[in-house]
Amino acid sequence: LNVCLICFAAMADAAAAAPIVVPQRQLFIDGNWRPPRKGAHIPVINPATEQIIGEIPGATSEDVNDAVKAAKKAFLHNKGQHWSRATGEARGKYLRAIADKVTERKLWLAELETLDCGKPIDEAVWDMEDVAACFEYYAGLAEKLDEIQYAPVELPLQNYKSNILKEPIGVVALITPWNYPLLMATWKVAPALAAGCAVILKPSELASVTCLELASIIQEVGIPPGIFNVITGFGPAAGAPLAAHEDVDKVAFTGSTKTGRSIMEMAARITKPVSLELGGKSPLIVFDDADIDTAVEWAMFGAFWTNGQICAATSRLLLQENIAEKFLKKLADWSASIKIGNPLEKGCRLGPVVSESQYTKILKYISTAQAEGASLLCGGKRPDHLKKGYFVGATVLSDVKPWMQIWKEEVFGPVLAVSTFKTEEEALHLANDSPYGLAGAVISKDADRCKRVSEGLQAGIVWINCSQPTFCQTPWGGVKRSGFGRELGEWGLENYLSVKQLTRYISNEPFGWYPPISKL
Ligand code: NAD
Repeated sequence: LNVCLICFAAMADAAAAAPIVVPQRQLFIDGNWRPPRKGAHIPVINPATEQIIGEIPGATSEDVNDAVKAAKKAFLHNKGQHWSRATGEARGKYLRAIADKVTERKLWLAELETLDCGKPIDEAVWDMEDVAACFEYYAGLAEKLDEIQYAPVELPLQNYKSNILKEPIGVVALITPWNYPLLMATWKVAPALAAGCAVILKPSELASVTCLELASIIQEVGIPPGIFNVITGFGPAAGAPLAAHEDVDKVAFTGSTKTGRSIMEMAARITKPVSLELGGKSPLIVFDDADIDTAVEWAMFGAFWTNGQICAATSRLLLQENIAEKFLKKLADWSASIKIGNPLEKGCRLGPVVSESQYTKILKYISTAQAEGASLLCGGKRPDHLKKGYFVGATVLSDVKPWMQIWKEEVFGPVLAVSTFKTEEEALHLANDSPYGLAGAVISKDADRCKRVSEGLQAGIVWINCSQPTFCQTPWGGVKRSGFGRELGEWGLENYLSVKQLTRYISNEPFGWYPPISKL
């Protein structure tokens, strides 16, 4: 560690809290901390106070080259015996050690996450528990990988036997967003390490602090140098050269659809596989037989959790016409009562959005929606009791029509757009009328209807009678412009494995296709 930059939880009511130190770290390449070659740094801004509380290195293509070289060398080192060709059991031990250290430092990491991206502390603690659980889970899958190596394949010919070997894909670039900084990184890092890949993680320039702390943990548990590297920096300067690098065997990306498209174009030039987890504009359909209180709470959670900055946020609410008035009254009153303020304070349920540019963008979306005819039921601005920080009150917009911008585009903030429907058919049509297809949700007491609607929703994830619960055992990913490939579960591990067939000729007889010379 170099100098430590100290920031006090500067919100007035947190004055009594202990100072929180943002460690100043360098790039993590080949098992060492190194300054970026061009010496650039990016300030870390606390979105709750708008104060600079630290800095992260700003990597460029020179640093990317160093990291890729280190990763390639580490992947091949000693014919892979230390990592890529070691047993899954051996790698699993490292993953469990990471999980233990994350658990030990859970509160510290959660506080850093909150300072860096504005996430309410109770959510950040929850995220850190999920991070540890995800490393544990993939430790288990790494061990199971040993059991399925050389799995036989049934063949129609007796002269042959085929077996399947699952091998790590190689050097992988993992490019991640800021809304769940450490958790989104973990969804990729844990399976990639479990598979035996060498990793270069490029977190978002808006929230990299906890990913650098992960590097420190990984250094402590002793994963071989070069197997895990962290390059922080801006997307075009650090992410683009990483995605385009000849020696990167795969890119796994989570972020906006626009960046995903550009990554896919770069990868296509050298025929490199990619998996893309992109944006969304997910619908929540509430039918008139739903319990109103329960449904309102899920609607709020689906739109305002993580300050509304969730790719799978159910940010389009479809209400059956005959319950709309009652529902909206409850929704507006309850949303207006959400505790918004210092995200480091326990019980806070809405913190600031991540950056000034997101704040401005969200307010613009709200004003455009109003100009287009939507009605603002609550929120729409920074609450009066907060003088600073990128806070946007929980916002509900009703009378939204399918042609409006607020219905079509991803806001990535605490903004819920509401429309109504008469029939199940109309609800499904409105829900699916989007280029996105990440998630969808339905709330109804009628199980048959829930089944029909979940089958009809064009989405990779469907929640029934809830919104947002996510488990590392279940697959995550979208259809349509929300991307392709699946993270989490066993599907997440497959992302980082290549499948090799080994086919043996086992007959004692010659093959016999070409007549032997002696018989010509
Ligand atoms: P973003 O696309 O701006 O950035 C994501 C990452 O890509 C960052 O690390 C960024 O530095 C990097 N990047 C930017 N330009 C790049 C380029 N030209 N080449 C290579 N890398 C580049 O997205 P964001 O603003 O960080 O995150 C918000 C978006 O992420 C939203 O659209 C959200 O829906 C999506 N998201 C999706 C999921 C999912 O699982 N589907 C999860 C979280 C977030």
